[in-house]
Amino acid sequence: MAGRPQERATNKALAVLEYMNAFFDKHGYQPTRRELATHFETSTSVIDYRLQMLASWDLIVITWGEARAIKIIKPERRKITVWLCGYPDCTYYSSVGSMRCSEHVDYEPIKRNFEENEK
Ligand SMILES: [Zn+2]
Repeated sequence: MAGRPQERATNKALAVLEYMNAFFDKHGYQPTRRELATHFETSTSVIDYRLQMLASWDLIVITWGEARAIKIIKPERRKITVWLCGYPDCTYYSSVGSMRCSEHVDYEPIKRNFEENEK
């Protein structure tokens, strides 16, 4: 199933986080944006977009200007649930309950569960 655009974008962003966790477990440091772009066979600007999505959910912190500038925060949190507005271009999300976007009330919220890789 292709899924709705917002859902696909979310899954791609979460795939980046999953890879970052696996990379960190193996190397002890985070991959660079270029290394992420190479792994996902895409451009660094696409990676930036996905990283900004993760940062907007408080899953990572990006500190620009440093060589390895991406930090995963709250590593003790093994399970993450995010609710998204189901409307295609809406970026509303909530990590608290199933709170809906107040604008697109007719759209069913999308629930996304993410579990970090177990070693
Ligand atoms: Zn919305």
